[in-house]
Amino acid sequence: MILKPFALCLAFIIGTTLPAGAERPILVTVDDLPVAAGRFHPDTEERKTLTRDLLEVLARHEIQAVGLVTWHNLRGDEEIALLEQWLEAGHELGNHSSRHLSYSSTSIDEYVEDIEDARARLAALLEPHDEQVRFFRFPMLREGDTAEKLAAMRAYLQRSGQRNLPVTIDNQDWSFEEPWLEALVSGDAERIRAVGDDYQAAMHLSVRHHERTGDRLFERETPQILLLHANAVGAAQWDRLFTWLRATGHRFATADEVLADPVFDEPHDYVGPRGPSLWDRILVRRQTEEAKSEVEGLLQTQAAAWSRGDLDSFCSVYADDALFVSPSGLTQGREEILQRYRAKYKDREGMGQLTLEVLQFEAVQGTEISMLGDARPSRIHGASVAARWRLTYPDREGAEGLTLLVLRSGRDGWKITQDASM
Ligand SMILES: [Zn+2]
Repeated sequence: MILKPFALCLAFIIGTTLPAGAERPILVTVDDLPVAAGRFHPDTEERKTLTRDLLEVLARHEIQAVGLVTWHNLRGDEEIALLEQWLEAGHELGNHSSRHLSYSSTSIDEYVEDIEDARARLAALLEPHDEQVRFFRFPMLREGDTAEKLAAMRAYLQRSGQRNLPVTIDNQDWSFEEPWLEALVSGDAERIRAVGDDYQAAMHLSVRHHERTGDRLFERETPQILLLHANAVGAAQWDRLFTWLRATGHRFATADEVLADPVFDEPHDYVGPRGPSLWDRILVRRQTEEAKSEVEGLLQTQAAAWSRGDLDSFCSVYADDALFVSPSGLTQGREEILQRYRAKYKDREGMGQLTLEVLQFEAVQGTEISMLGDARPSRIHGASVAARWRLTYPDREGAEGLTLLVLRSGRDGWKITQDASM
């Protein structure tokens, strides 16, 4: 954290560029090979030209990329020659499925079969090159909308020797393909320039946003994995994009170098229908753990208040309009809940010592779509907690039961909004 401003300052004084180590490593990954959005590119010659142009701009910037192959995107076996060109140019090819299915709407068996078919085909292509399929990328970055699906693919990937290649800089570069091609057809130079400018601006925002998220998570400059697609807008715009990346302190790095950074070892168990950036997945896990410990802390404070006979404090964690559900009926409102307890427990001795044991914690958190169209996890809005309560007394038998609490997280911290105790 201290080194960078110092290095910048030094570079300014002595008039040199930053030493290589001070630049942020970034891995370029290109999805949907050989050609993304094939419906716009039916012509064989055009597809060859597009491949040549993409490889040319990568070479110009001395980038060693990972290209992710989607077999459904090949127009016949002769297009294997396009994939061979990526290998000959020194890029690594990874598995990006056969049919580009959404895992969120596909069964585990069907999905794994599709991925395994694709892996076997790619392995056969790589074998004469003495290379193996090392990487897999989830289509649309959807890694599982249930915990069972998440675990099933992780087990399959491990068994088959593939590593999930995550994306840290998620973006919507693919969405510029159609407007770009329409602008080209129009022949309107102003329109073409405008689409190009929008592409660049959107990519700059995505790069900055995700880098900031990663850097905040790890409190240092984090290496990044950029998602791009093999399309015509990319062939035309990458040179400008890569030039900007270099000018803003990035250094193009290999998959091995980038993935060796320990940030990529931090676990996450993000389950959801959409595919956010790796940083957002990690952020959700950390936020969930933080929320869990806050709520557990709140319940311990509440139990301590009860045990010292302080019903006011005990009830202060209920929201103004909280609903209390018990076998004897419903009580609405914090004040009414307090009065109910007061009526039931006349003195401290009758209250005993309370302990609350959290049996299950579930954060309430969903998906939001950013202005640029990226899926990102929402903040944690609330939580539900299943807990066991126990009352013990020095001179008589205790009691125990269960409770289900619903809590809301707001400006004034966590508040219980619903409490079903039995
Ligand atoms: Zn894809």
